[in-house]
Amino acid sequence: MCIFCKIVAREIPADIVFESINVLAFNDISPQAPTHVLVIPKWHHENAAELAAQAPGLLAEIVSVADQIAKERELDGYRLAFNTGESAGQTVFHAHLHLLGGRALGWPPG
Ligand code: AMP
Ligand code: ZN
Repeated sequence: MCIFCKIVAREIPADIVFESINVLAFNDISPQAPTHVLVIPKWHHENAAELAAQAPGLLAEIVSVADQIAKERELDGYRLAFNTGESAGQTVFHAHLHLLGGRALGWPPG
């Protein structure tokens, strides 16, 4: 089982901020901004493209959950990122949406 599947199964702890039938959101263990939440499907898909192909409604739900969290926190703006592939920085191969906010975010990202 992958590390995020283990978080879903409560086999390892996480600082959970939102849960629904299909979606879990928790604080990133190594936050890169005052808000750095990972929003994930409870089902294992390797990356965002696989999630889009296999469960497009779930992909949309994940984006909506991120927006809901941002609105609750009254974030001025936010960035959503799906790192895909090792050279883009993907280290966990269970699709996860990074929600970053609470500070000015530079562009382009590193
Ligand atoms: P990525 O590099 O896009 O694959 O993102 C993986 C993210 O998961 C990184 O930002 C890590 O800090 C985060 N992460 C890894 N393990 C955990 C964990 N046990 N709990 C919370 N976040 C984690
Ligand atoms: Zn998984």
